[in-house]
Amino acid sequence: MTFQNTLEFAQELDAQDELHVYREEFIFPQHNKKDVIYFTGNSLGLQPKRTRKYVDEVMDDWAKMAVEGHFYAEKPWWDYQERFSKPLSKIVGAKPSEVTVMNTLTVNLHLLMVSFYRPTQKRYKIICEEKAFPSDQYMFQSQVKFHGYDPKEAIVEVKRREGEHNIRLEDIIAKINEVGEELALVLFGGVNYYTGQVFNMKAITEAGHNVGAYVGFDLAHAAGNIELKLNEWNVDFAAWCSYKYMNSGPGNASGCFVHEKHHHADLPRFAGWWGHNKERRFKMEPDFDPVHGAEGWQISNLPILSLAPYLASVEMFDQIGMDKLIKKRNKITAYLEYILHEIDAEIPGTEFEIITPSNQEERASQLSVFLHGQGRSLFDYLMSNGVITDWREPNVIRLAPVPLYCSFVDMYNFGQILKEGILKIK
Ligand SMILES: *Cc1c(COP(=O)(O)O)cnc(C)c1O
Repeated sequence: MTFQNTLEFAQELDAQDELHVYREEFIFPQHNKKDVIYFTGNSLGLQPKRTRKYVDEVMDDWAKMAVEGHFYAEKPWWDYQERFSKPLSKIVGAKPSEVTVMNTLTVNLHLLMVSFYRPTQKRYKIICEEKAFPSDQYMFQSQVKFHGYDPKEAIVEVKRREGEHNIRLEDIIAKINEVGEELALVLFGGVNYYTGQVFNMKAITEAGHNVGAYVGFDLAHAAGNIELKLNEWNVDFAAWCSYKYMNSGPGNASGCFVHEKHHHADLPRFAGWWGHNKERRFKMEPDFDPVHGAEGWQISNLPILSLAPYLASVEMFDQIGMDKLIKKRNKITAYLEYILHEIDAEIPGTEFEIITPSNQEERASQLSVFLHGQGRSLFDYLMSNGVITDWREPNVIRLAPVPLYCSFVDMYNFGQILKEGILKIK
């Protein structure tokens, strides 16, 4: 499709967009009495209007029923998490028994590492991406030290080649093969938070399994953003947060996946009563008998007030379906890319570099733009003119045109503000 950098053209794209109505379902912060252009749905998604109703429902049930709400609430609390299994399993390409919701993301990855990182003298290394999200780096270091190994030796990062912004699949596979029999675990992001690069999870999983390692993914930037087939790809485990593309609110609960082949009871784990056999949970027996499925990793009874917004979101995703989201995502990201190139060409001496891969298989909702000249002052200009984006050192802004609520007109308007900003700052 050939694009045009005009308001009329952007309006026409919005008119053709079947997801455009969903924009009305979200609450936008205001700038000069207008909706901001929101590019940070990869960091904290906007609040859906329907969410408050889900939270109020829990508050009301609690007020009216107190403890009886566990069994008699409109959506009983004791098995509230079961409402997630079906819709969430579709979002991540899993079977309903393979997914559940609990805790928060880094906590879940730690807990899953209890099961899937059990190093031995011979096999103790972890492969991850260079510049993984900081929380993941701290997690790797602390896990490795906890087991008595030296992080410098046990953590192997796959690096970018000199002068390149993204990690090549061939280099990931080569590193997996090189570490070979010493490799205990591959734990990669599904989508790199900084560059927006989408990793080939199927190929990475296969390579890890070929050398006898477990393979898991941190899907913080992938859940609700890209097509996932965790079951089919044979991924051992995964976890994601719900507050980025999934719009469930700040710091909210995590989802996790454990492949069905690991649902047997003898895999070690840290246990609690909410992972215990459901028929027998309230019999208060001494011996732990885990639920067959990802729910067998549950520990505590669930924070229903957190899960309510997450449920609102998951049901919205289920209504729409990932296919439609991905179709719009590709188009709106391509339009944003086109606009960036247009502005770049219009203003001599301006150099952006989009460091996100340009091929559609390796990118999703995010374009990370390296601002060679302008930098921080341009970022400040955007923020003070109603464009919400974020800044990452040394000179990168990340733009996520989230398909659920961003419009093509937003992309056009952003281009105009960007152009003004560059001309003013020059
Ligand atoms: C956002 C993000 C996190 C955040 O972890 P929390 O435990 O939810 O604070 C972790 N890993 C990655 C890759 C992220 O992008």
